[in-house]
Amino acid sequence: LDAPLYADVAGDMEVSFEFFPPKTEKMDEQLWSAIRTLEPLGPSFVSVTYGAGGSTRERTHATVARIQRETSLAAAAHLTCVEATREEIDAVADEYWAAGVRHIVALRGDSPTPGVPYAQHPGGYENAAALVAGLKRLHPFEISVAAYPECHPDSSDAMADLDNLKRKIDAGGTRAITQFFFEPETFFRYRDAAAAAGITADIVPGIMPVTNFASVQRMAAMCGTAVPAWLARLFDGLDDLPGARQLVAATVTAELCRKLYAGGVRQFHFYTLNRAELAYAICHLLGVRARSISQEAAA
Ligand code: FAD
Repeated sequence: LDAPLYADVAGDMEVSFEFFPPKTEKMDEQLWSAIRTLEPLGPSFVSVTYGAGGSTRERTHATVARIQRETSLAAAAHLTCVEATREEIDAVADEYWAAGVRHIVALRGDSPTPGVPYAQHPGGYENAAALVAGLKRLHPFEISVAAYPECHPDSSDAMADLDNLKRKIDAGGTRAITQFFFEPETFFRYRDAAAAAGITADIVPGIMPVTNFASVQRMAAMCGTAVPAWLARLFDGLDDLPGARQLVAATVTAELCRKLYAGGVRQFHFYTLNRAELAYAICHLLGVRARSISQEAAA
């Protein structure tokens, strides 16, 4: 209730958008339509994910390079340590640098076999902190790292998880982007705990607009995100009503962002799932307005 009305939200925030590399021509069209729709909002960067075990290596690279080449956007490439030697990962990073990409989202990644714990590749990077240090030795990349307001499932406890985040920032991470969550208090508690642990880098909430409740529930179970009972109740009965689901998703997500804004958050990272409408609508509600691309270039 103490969050500002939409009219009072100043539009003074930075937004960024995450995409995944397309597998088919149809998905490619959908991705590029989303990129072109969101581009005028002037995001501080857009990022492209990297599939388990480097399965999307070429597609991630091609997508990032094309964004960098053909749009006004700053592209960030996700990169993981999974099933690759340090030399192989460094070679990918060198290619990005040569293509003009200056921002890497550096991750450990997970085993490509579901249920099997992550294991360091012989000759590979041990974890994300080691990857950050390795990338920094190669080139002066801007580096984002992952953060877990509800604790990473591999962590023994919340403090060990924060110590790990601190190692990633101390190794050269410039900002942390969080796993998705649904309650603003979850983020605020984490932000306070990170500050108390001496982490001064920006912690940017990762915002997941929910449209397919069942698939979000599956993702949440894998990454340890709590799905509140009220959210399940909101989506109950909407399986066959995609339009209504979209409206409910926009309302719930904008409400979360509005409360985060009231708590001082000014940077938001949207998991777009390669669809523009929801992210665009939520940014609009938060006062983010389209700028002409020429304005963008002059800024
Ligand atoms: P790390 O920070 O290295 O570690 C994960 C956990 O393991 C830590 O919380 C820590 O507690 C524990 N740990 C690590 N090293 C040690 C140690 N030396 N001692 C004790 N404990 C340790 N996955 C993909 O495959 N592709 C992507 O593109 C991708 N993008 C993502 C983007 C964001 C914003 C987020 C939040 C996640 C993303 N992921 C992606 C998922 C990510 O790869 C998984 O969550 C993975 O399990 C952990 O990666 P990390 O970089 O957080 O790992």
